[in-house]
Amino acid sequence: MKFGDSFVEQLKTSIDIVHVVQGYVRLRKSGSSFVGICPFHQEKTPSFHVRQSPAYYYCFGCGAKGDAISFVQNMERISFPETVKLLAERYGIPLPKVESTPEADQTAKERLALLEIHQEAAEIFKSQFASSPEGKQALAYVKERGLSDQTIEKFGLGYALGFSDNLVRRLNGRFSTELLIKSGLIQIGDSGRPYDRFRRRVMFPIRNESGKIVAFGGRIFGEGQPKYLNSSETPIYSKSRILYALDLAKDSVRRKTFAILVEGYMDCIALHQAGVDNTIASCGTSLTELQAKLLGRFSDRIVVNFDPDAAGAAATLRSLDIFLEQNFKIRVLALPGGDDPDSFIKRHGVEIYSALLDKAPSYFDYLLQKSRQVNDLKSVEGKIQAVNQVLPYLAKTSNRLERVELTKRVAEFFGFDESIIREELKKTANLRQERPEIHRSQIRSKLTPSERYLLKAILDNPSAAREVIQQLSASEDYVGLDSESIFRQAIAIFREEGRIDPGHLLARLDNDRDKDFVNQALFSELDMGQATRCLEGLRRQKAKLEIDQLQKEIRQAELSQDFELLANLHSRKVALKRSVAL
Ligand SMILES: [Zn+2]
Repeated sequence: MKFGDSFVEQLKTSIDIVHVVQGYVRLRKSGSSFVGICPFHQEKTPSFHVRQSPAYYYCFGCGAKGDAISFVQNMERISFPETVKLLAERYGIPLPKVESTPEADQTAKERLALLEIHQEAAEIFKSQFASSPEGKQALAYVKERGLSDQTIEKFGLGYALGFSDNLVRRLNGRFSTELLIKSGLIQIGDSGRPYDRFRRRVMFPIRNESGKIVAFGGRIFGEGQPKYLNSSETPIYSKSRILYALDLAKDSVRRKTFAILVEGYMDCIALHQAGVDNTIASCGTSLTELQAKLLGRFSDRIVVNFDPDAAGAAATLRSLDIFLEQNFKIRVLALPGGDDPDSFIKRHGVEIYSALLDKAPSYFDYLLQKSRQVNDLKSVEGKIQAVNQVLPYLAKTSNRLERVELTKRVAEFFGFDESIIREELKKTANLRQERPEIHRSQIRSKLTPSERYLLKAILDNPSAAREVIQQLSASEDYVGLDSESIFRQAIAIFREEGRIDPGHLLARLDNDRDKDFVNQALFSELDMGQATRCLEGLRRQKAKLEIDQLQKEIRQAELSQDFELLANLHSRKVALKRSVAL
């Protein structure tokens, strides 16, 4: 395939380079040119420029430059003649008659043949749903899983029979064995005989974004391993570059301005069938940078809706990394009740799914909620751990204003001083450290007056110590305070020694901050009247609880008409009230 220079020139003048580039990169107008994020190198701020006259693109970041044809050629990674043909077809410009030359592009020919083999194989698989008892059973199974005839047709599902050289025999007359092996659909056994890669499987054609079948996924029908088998990599198929159902979803993704990413074929198909047709699947691999870039040509907004199990949660976190690198606006939908999207829609219907989808939190809120679930936020250690889990994402947020906003949110959410988080982020950015991480020693805070009074009281006043310790260990009011571990140790010491020696307490504390707290309390000019009032408050609180308890018992005694007990309870209540002057 070879085109004359005049046709190439004609093509170049009849297509708009901005329109061509916009098929791949989001551009915005800036003066006389258009700018966007360069698709040829990693960047966060746009340095990729496109001009209409002269029709030309140039990247200030990596130096990539050229015209509309070289742009598409680089994006699609295809040959020059293939690019010319693709653009001519895309823009409805009639191709001139070309003689095939001896030096015709061998790769292009081969790719074409591989596509033909896949198309042919898909037809064969499809027909086998009807042509054998085994296929009919498989079709019944697919329908039982809730897929309509229309959906089965739309996604081109089919069936690979159980015997080993079915496809070999049906395709061998038309394609060479060598080519069939290159397609990945046929393999060579130990005996040297070719056999089918996919046997006894429900077949899901995997199409590229322009709708050409480039591979298959096969789910075993009945028992067998592996449950899912995909095509191996071939000249036309690289799993890291393909998003399942993107060909069907791309228009809807543009229209709805976001995409939904799910894990499995069935989830993806079920959502499309339910009308949620901006859904794509990552096809049994964890998401790759190339897949995110591919999707980025259609939208920069994504909702990640993986399975709710541990593997799905881990895959969600990995996808966040990749989408953040590509500057996506990410939300996460974690369906309740352990359902994947397919089973959720079957159980609850698409309306509820759509409502949850609308409310799906931003990735950052998802992370905050998750860190709250897995860490004990009542303890300082738990809080530090939780903050450290979200800090790396904070560091990855490239937009400065957004980072400032999120920093504030994190500080509020966990009750930390914002400046600690800011400093840590600055430090890791400067040192190019792997992960930002806050350590306990960085958390400088002061005791609240009441914490200080109580601490002072148990250290200075043995009789107060007994009362405070008793009340604190019963109520656990200290849990969650900055001084939590100090009171915890104090209670332990009191239980062992019957008193609290400040030296013993200091010796048991394992960090400088806590020691600092104890010293703050010990050396504070404490108004003992204030401390007494503080204790008094605790005592009154305790008495009130006891009175409440007595009141319940009194009601019980009244019901059972136990007058002796009633008299006893009443006198205890009066005494309690008197003791705290209530
Ligand atoms: Zn560049």
